[in-house]
Amino acid sequence: MIKKKRNFLKITGLSFLMAFLLPYKLLYSATKKIINPNLTNEQKKIMLEEGTERAFTSPLNNEKRKGFFHCANCGAKLFSSEAKFDSGTGWPSFFDTYPNVFETTTDYKLIYPRTEYHCATCDGHHGHLFDDGPEPTKKRYCNNGIALKFVEEKLKS
Ligand SMILES: [Zn+2]
Repeated sequence: MIKKKRNFLKITGLSFLMAFLLPYKLLYSATKKIINPNLTNEQKKIMLEEGTERAFTSPLNNEKRKGFFHCANCGAKLFSSEAKFDSGTGWPSFFDTYPNVFETTTDYKLIYPRTEYHCATCDGHHGHLFDDGPEPTKKRYCNNGIALKFVEEKLKS
């Protein structure tokens, strides 16, 4: 009799947790807004569902021109080419961002927790933040290239 009661509690506890988590997940993804109607399915998969592009697939990985990296969804200016460095990871990497352009969450998709970051304007997922970057910040913003739009800086005449 006691055992039965325990199982019952275990099951109700679990369903309560599921009932709580599922709408949260739906609600969370619903807050991500599509602002750019021309986003490709691949971009939507990464920016709205927190996917990751394959390493070394983004042409922006080797982008060396002076300019600005904007959010592919809402157009917010996120990084300057001055903060870009070659991390060798296969993803565009930056050691700094413009102020207050990202918000972070902790994600447990791998066995260790990682700091996920997303656009503060549109909530679109961009990448993960690590503490093994170069000076002066020692930060490494590992960004999906597909979530960025590069705009070359116009030369002053
Ligand atoms: Zn954005």
